[in-house]
Amino acid sequence: MAEYNPYENMLLILERAAGLLGLNKNDYRTLKYPERILQVSIPIEMDDGSVRVFEGYRIQHSSVRGPCKGGIRYHQDVDMNEVKALAAWMSFKCAVVNIPYGGAKGGIKVDPRKLTKKELERMTRRYTASIMPIIGPQEDILAPDVNTTPEIMGWVMDTYSMVKGVNVPGVVTGKPLEIGGSLGRVQATGRGVRIVTREIIKYLGLSPKQLTVSIQGMGNVGGTAARLLYKEGFKIVAVADITGGIRADAGLDIPAIQAYMEQGGALGSYEAPGVVKLENSDILTTQCDILIPATMENQLTAENANDVKAKIIIEAANGPTAVEADEIFNEKGIIVVPDILANAGGVVVSYFEWVQNINGQIWDLNKVNSSLEKIMVRSFNEVLGMKEKNDTTLRVGAYMLAIERLVAAKKIRGFFP
Ligand code: NAD
Repeated sequence: MAEYNPYENMLLILERAAGLLGLNKNDYRTLKYPERILQVSIPIEMDDGSVRVFEGYRIQHSSVRGPCKGGIRYHQDVDMNEVKALAAWMSFKCAVVNIPYGGAKGGIKVDPRKLTKKELERMTRRYTASIMPIIGPQEDILAPDVNTTPEIMGWVMDTYSMVKGVNVPGVVTGKPLEIGGSLGRVQATGRGVRIVTREIIKYLGLSPKQLTVSIQGMGNVGGTAARLLYKEGFKIVAVADITGGIRADAGLDIPAIQAYMEQGGALGSYEAPGVVKLENSDILTTQCDILIPATMENQLTAENANDVKAKIIIEAANGPTAVEADEIFNEKGIIVVPDILANAGGVVVSYFEWVQNINGQIWDLNKVNSSLEKIMVRSFNEVLGMKEKNDTTLRVGAYMLAIERLVAAKKIRGFFP
């Protein structure tokens, strides 16, 4: 089997959606290429005095609809194709929810669990300094992603501001509240996942109480989604993270599990009456109605797609479904709510944070959450409308909506020079 390349995955869907829109190849040709790729080497003096050099990227896919926007990921599997795909998905995501941003992404190839806190801080600051020529509140705005936290966003903001000699909170979102972060940002992606889950089951005429849920990943996004869906009455029957998985047919006590994890407990070792262990890989194929992948790309593949029991998949992660798996789900009538819609809540509230930063405002939580709700529900309905009008999937419908908006903006702006 050919090696998985998320960028190729993205291009296949782009072509399909552009074809359905009846676009001329010249109309969308630019979307197939990132505008700018910056690769940097990040030398760090480790605590023991040795020197290590990490590989980092910042890739800007499109600035046609506004400044580039996207998270930074610290993970041992980060590479150019992954960051390129993640940057393109950001352009499409911002267009789907119709916020005035383009798309970008950054990453460092590192397992951050193997660094001390001081090493992590030095690496973050040096990375920020290295990509400084192309970032800024009107150029390209950073944010959290896998293994990057509000504290790390604070170091980004401080480094940028120190070098510029002026406070620039708008260069990064997902910051701690004390330095210009927004209320509701930490929970925003998971909250968006809850909103689209509620909307899709409403569309299908189902109610939360009838439905069981399995969630892969209990970090920022998966953990928040688990908490909010549990509160809404869904029965969360299985969850897993890097330490392992657990299942309870009668439903897991999510608040108790999260309290245990906050005390430093490993999810895979959690014990309670009725709770059984689950192999990490089985979380995706365990019996449930709704499956929420919330870890990394390429989790649902040609190998395991036929074993998936869920009727609905909500892509909380970016790119969890390979194209071959998507086709299998389509044939089997499994509904997939695509990543560029399902996990867009994070970038929406990042946008609110940036608006607050550049205008010197502080919004209350009610304003943040109600504005998020409005945008997510509107976007869901627009994607659904596109899907129904063209008799296609929600994924292709979402891409069509995004491409239509990106192409329209490009046409108006024209080419330079
Ligand atoms: P995170 O680092 O907070 O959490 C990742 C979780 O995945 C952890 O619980 C980790 O243990 C688990 N995990 C990793 N490998 C696993 C494996 N093999 N099996 C089971 N669990 C595994 O990251 P996050 O911010 O929650 O991001 C998760 C996904 O959501 C990513 O695809 C990210 O791009 C996407 N996303 C995040 C945001 C955001 O605001 N943080 C926004 C949009 C999309």
